[in-house]
Amino acid sequence: LYVAEKLAERAEHQLGQDQAHYLRDVMRLKPGDPVRLFNTQDGEYLAYLGTVARKAMSVICEKQLAEAAPPPDIDFVFAPLKHARLDYLVQKATELGARRLRPVYTARTIVDRVNLDRMKANAVEAAEQCNLVYVPEVFEPEKLDRLLAKWPADRALIYCDERSDGADTIALLKGLKLPAALLVGPEGGFTPEEREGLKRLPFVTVISLGPRIMRADTAGTAALAVVQAVLGD
Ligand code: SAM
Repeated sequence: LYVAEKLAERAEHQLGQDQAHYLRDVMRLKPGDPVRLFNTQDGEYLAYLGTVARKAMSVICEKQLAEAAPPPDIDFVFAPLKHARLDYLVQKATELGARRLRPVYTARTIVDRVNLDRMKANAVEAAEQCNLVYVPEVFEPEKLDRLLAKWPADRALIYCDERSDGADTIALLKGLKLPAALLVGPEGGFTPEEREGLKRLPFVTVISLGPRIMRADTAGTAALAVVQAVLGD
């Protein structure tokens, strides 16, 4: 279970309603049963259930099981998609070890408001389900050109372009070093102006994911898997 507060030996935490419901009604746990707690800063702890009541449930940390384990320094920069597709993308990006999630508005982005709490909840749920000891940091959405204007020169930006010339993707990725970020566009792709602008930036590497055009959520997932395979741990 993800607990945002500081985890330490003998620390006691009150669980929220959703977590309490899950442990009590779904997992059928009782006072004294063990649970695994984690967060990005403190790692993973073995804890035991204290109170188990309808409204209140507490857990008491016993010992640390694992140190915090941030994934390789790869950000995922993406145009927010609609509802279920965004949920999917956030879950998969978390499972695939994106360190930060950065939604960006591009010219053809059709979603104009992003539910950050829902994004965070999806990231937490994916981390819990996959026993990760890390939840990616979720950033407020911003315009792509604003983000690019303050881009740190030492972070490689890997831009997925379905119209790229088919250069060897693996060889291009092997030539890069972390920190890095991966950029995937919205359902309607990038405009010609955006594509030309991106290609001119010194920190950008353009890659292809093959000759087939994928939906944005598929492309993001596939691209993260490839980037992790070549540059990750
Ligand atoms: N512009 C295209 C169109 O409307 O026909 C489709 C854009 S695609 C659905 C959305 C995003 O996925 C693109 O901006 C790109 O970043 C990524 N993408 C999809 N297929 C890709 C591929 N084969 N190679 C690289 N990137 C791809």
